[in-house]
Amino acid sequence: MPISRVRWSGNLARVTDAKMPLRAKVASSVSRTAAALSRAAGRGDGSVIGGWLGLKIDPELLAHLSAGRAIALISGTNGKTTTTRLAAAAVGVLGRVATNSFGANMPTGHTSALAKAGSTPYAVLEVDEHYLAQVIEATDPHVVALLNLSRDQLDRAKEVAMMAQLWRAALARHPDIRVVANADDPMVVWAATPPASHDQRITPPHVTWFSAGQRWHDDSWVCPECGSTIQRSGEQWWCTGCPLRRPEPQWTVDDEGVVDPTGAWYKVKLQLPGKVNVGNAATALAVAAEFGVRPFDAVPRLGDVTSVAGRYAQVVREGRTVRLLLAKNPASWLEAFDMADEAPTLLSINARDPDGLDTSWLFDVDFAPLRGRLVLITGDRAYDLAVRLEINDVPFQYVRTFDEAVRAVPPGRLEVIANYTAFQDIRAELDRVN
Ligand SMILES: [Zn+2]
Repeated sequence: MPISRVRWSGNLARVTDAKMPLRAKVASSVSRTAAALSRAAGRGDGSVIGGWLGLKIDPELLAHLSAGRAIALISGTNGKTTTTRLAAAAVGVLGRVATNSFGANMPTGHTSALAKAGSTPYAVLEVDEHYLAQVIEATDPHVVALLNLSRDQLDRAKEVAMMAQLWRAALARHPDIRVVANADDPMVVWAATPPASHDQRITPPHVTWFSAGQRWHDDSWVCPECGSTIQRSGEQWWCTGCPLRRPEPQWTVDDEGVVDPTGAWYKVKLQLPGKVNVGNAATALAVAAEFGVRPFDAVPRLGDVTSVAGRYAQVVREGRTVRLLLAKNPASWLEAFDMADEAPTLLSINARDPDGLDTSWLFDVDFAPLRGRLVLITGDRAYDLAVRLEINDVPFQYVRTFDEAVRAVPPGRLEVIANYTAFQDIRAELDRVN
């Protein structure tokens, strides 16, 4: 059955169950019920199983649920969960926003989030970078935000260029989508620029560039357009063999605040730590602006966001204030060091399937910022971490468990930086703090 597309045109679009075909209504209802049952059974938030069942009944369910909503998709390797949370808060100025706030960022998660939210005029969805092209086709978004592309695991290194190619092809098929893209990431700039416009100094009218102060550059020394070397000087970068270069960003970060395209500066007071999150806030404001939200109205809402799917959550344990930071790849380790206070720090590393089995990426991370802090290590691959810290000249102490770490530090703050499954383990120990 063809899906009637109601493109958002600045008015509040209305989406009601009544407009959906019967199969989609049944699928949507089954999806909601399954998710609720799964939650009741204590198996997480149920969004994956609910969405999976819904899509089994109606493979077009995501498209049906998207019709009539004004949607923003947020994708990239790092920062997408937090940016999605902040952008949903910002777009909330206009009305109710559906969002996949638990990080279930594949089509099953999107389906479930939209079914659960019922009819909302807006949706802000985090999208796994591998699924962006597919989700663009299904949801016909108003805005797509491209945050960055860096390798997530060593064994996936080649995928960065391939992913940029897929993004670029998907956006070229939908030239009416507004794109909010990171000017500091050559891969993203290339992906956001239509293949026809060879001169990247001319920004296509539907692209808005932001600069969020990206630190990680090691994945983009080779130009995706021509294969020549990319040179950097300060914040500028340019290809030595073709016109690809850093575009002038319209949204920037400056001195704990965000500068909008008119040059106005807004103080951004967040409950989330680090400069990285001020950058995420700039991106969120740029996304919301595409819906007509003024930064002035959105900024106070960003300050209400406390934790994001357990990240940055603080809990008190035996007189220690424990804060959890997730670091899943070299780029996000650097960000975590920036977010962490100068305090005793526990590092935990696993190398199970979701983490990637190879830990040699540890040698791409400079742990020197941790010198002078009390550093504790744990996790399945603590030994690999020990070798790395030894070579990096960072003294450390091994602990077997999280509880042992808590007892090993004086009362006060304990920062915990962990990779994916290690983070989940510690969260489970803390009774799923949120
Ligand atoms: Zn080039």
